[in-house]
Amino acid sequence: MSLRPILIHPDPRLKKVAEPVARVTPEIEALADDMLATMYDAPGIGLAAPQIGVLKRIFVMDATRDPEAERQPLVLINPEISWSSEDLNTYDEGCLSIPDQYGDVTRPAQVRMQWLGLDGKTHERDFDELWATCAQHELDHLNGILFIDHMSAIKRQMITRKMVKLKRERARG
Ligand SMILES: [Zn+2]
Repeated sequence: MSLRPILIHPDPRLKKVAEPVARVTPEIEALADDMLATMYDAPGIGLAAPQIGVLKRIFVMDATRDPEAERQPLVLINPEISWSSEDLNTYDEGCLSIPDQYGDVTRPAQVRMQWLGLDGKTHERDFDELWATCAQHELDHLNGILFIDHMSAIKRQMITRKMVKLKRERARG
């Protein structure tokens, strides 16, 4: 298991549509392990494969926010939304690829998701509250969409300029 570097926006790999996973192989299992370790280390509540430069349809999440609570890691391969609620929820979202920037995003309050598990079986589950927001945010990553793409152009450009500056500073060391 190893920690993978997380790509910072803007990066062309964060704007690509990721490819479906054909089947669960030892490589996919190892990738999921690395993604969970990287997510918990960050720390974050979700991480999608494109964020570590792997253009495959897989994301991990654990939206249990209480640090005392038992971990509930989920690995979702080829996830799809089969139902979304009409009622909406607004969360102040953030992203490991856009550090220290937050903004309100409105999404369906509940979603039903289907995915392939590491066990090779199809799973289905309803998510609500932070889990629903996180699942939709991560699914967006597999389609090259960032949470700032749901915000106004002005706010998006402001955040993008900050990230360009941050990357320049980090490159200088
Ligand atoms: Zn994100």
